[in-house]
Amino acid sequence: MLEHDRATCSRSNKGEGPLQSNSHAPTAEVDALIVGAGPAGCMAARRLGKAMRVLLVDSSALPRSKPCGGALNPYSWKFLQQFGPPRHLFLDPEEVKFRWVDFDSKLNRITELEFKNVSREAFDEWLLSLIPDTVEVRDKTRFLGYESNCHLTKVRLETPTGGLTVSTRYVIGADGALSQVRRRVLGGDFATYACIQDWVERPASMPPYFDCIRIKGIGDGHAYTYAVPKGEAALVGSVFYPGATAQKAKHGQVMEMLRDRLGLGPTTKRESAAALQVRSGRDVIFGDGKVLLTGEAAGFISPTSGEGISYALATGDLCAQAILAEPDRPLEKYRAMSAGPARNITRKARKLALLEYRAGHAVLAAMPLGILSWMTKRL
Ligand SMILES: Cc1cc2nc3c(=O)[nH]c(=O)nc-3n(C[C@H](O)[C@H](O)[C@H](O)COP(=O)(O)OP(=O)(O)OC[C@H]3O[C@@H](n4cnc5c(N)ncnc54)[C@H](O)[C@@H]3O)c2cc1C
Repeated sequence: MLEHDRATCSRSNKGEGPLQSNSHAPTAEVDALIVGAGPAGCMAARRLGKAMRVLLVDSSALPRSKPCGGALNPYSWKFLQQFGPPRHLFLDPEEVKFRWVDFDSKLNRITELEFKNVSREAFDEWLLSLIPDTVEVRDKTRFLGYESNCHLTKVRLETPTGGLTVSTRYVIGADGALSQVRRRVLGGDFATYACIQDWVERPASMPPYFDCIRIKGIGDGHAYTYAVPKGEAALVGSVFYPGATAQKAKHGQVMEMLRDRLGLGPTTKRESAAALQVRSGRDVIFGDGKVLLTGEAAGFISPTSGEGISYALATGDLCAQAILAEPDRPLEKYRAMSAGPARNITRKARKLALLEYRAGHAVLAAMPLGILSWMTKRL
């Protein structure tokens, strides 16, 4: 059994105490078990928690700290308007424009694509606060696997005090890039990008751009680097293709190069994370029976830009809507409701070649600004 005083999550760390006391005995039978309390899991829990018994588990301590650029695109921002996003999410500068940079081909183009610049930690904590109190939230609780029959799924969890099996009608895999639920549904492995990002002191002269930087000299396996001002700090991250070697050394090389060019201060924190590699619409997997995948675990992340928050918010919500609309056949309903985002992934994947080959950058450099901005907004 879960021991509530150790595994229960306090949804706010602002000194208000837990939003949900979880003083009752932990539940071993629920209607829906959601794995992962990122944007996708929070949106699914928000909607389903009003209608059924929901258990939301996350292997991390909550509120979590996920390495991320913290750039919300216009679709994320539009979706979030219904909840009135609070001011404290923003970092200076509050908006950043996307800029293409390639030191070798002298590409340097500021586009009209604008992101809201937020603290990812504050953002994720705020999303947790949107979940109704009826949802049981357990952090430091890891999904291990499941067995299904036609009525019920038995999910094995590892909690701080030992193993637990929970019976549920629906499982929602919202467990991100390294999803164990996706692995179980696929019956095999999948590829991920590796990302390493440094927090550095922000140089006074750093402009309000989200830079996407290509550097030829770093060698094979380096996809791109991003740099963005974040309040008094700046974030510089490198993305590596699956199987890339010497990632840490290559990121160190990038940092040395950018320290000179951008005048970056010393690194105060280094962190790493994975991002799912999506190269075609076939990488989007909706689930199996009453086990549904959502957000990045389903393959909803832009193949071209790595933007995943807008997809996670939208598909987490759609997944819950599908269960409520078609309780006996939620997978078919979810697939139909998510056809738009899935087509969108397919369209973006077709543009990968333009970005991955050096000749593509010459095309970007030559495009009229209006067309470049239009195209960038669709990556
Ligand atoms: C370095 C980096 C920078 C990024 N920058 C941006 C950006 O600027 N803008 C943007 O839109 N997107 C960005 N992304 C992508 C974005 O962060 C993700 O696509 C988005 O967070 C996906 O949301 P999600 O809810 O699907 O999964 P996640 O946010 O990844 O949440 C998954 C949750 O599942 C939990 N979990 C995992 N395994 C288990 C398990 N076995 N049991 C229980 N819980 C588990 C994890 O602890 C985690 O809390 C970035 C990604 C990376 C790696």
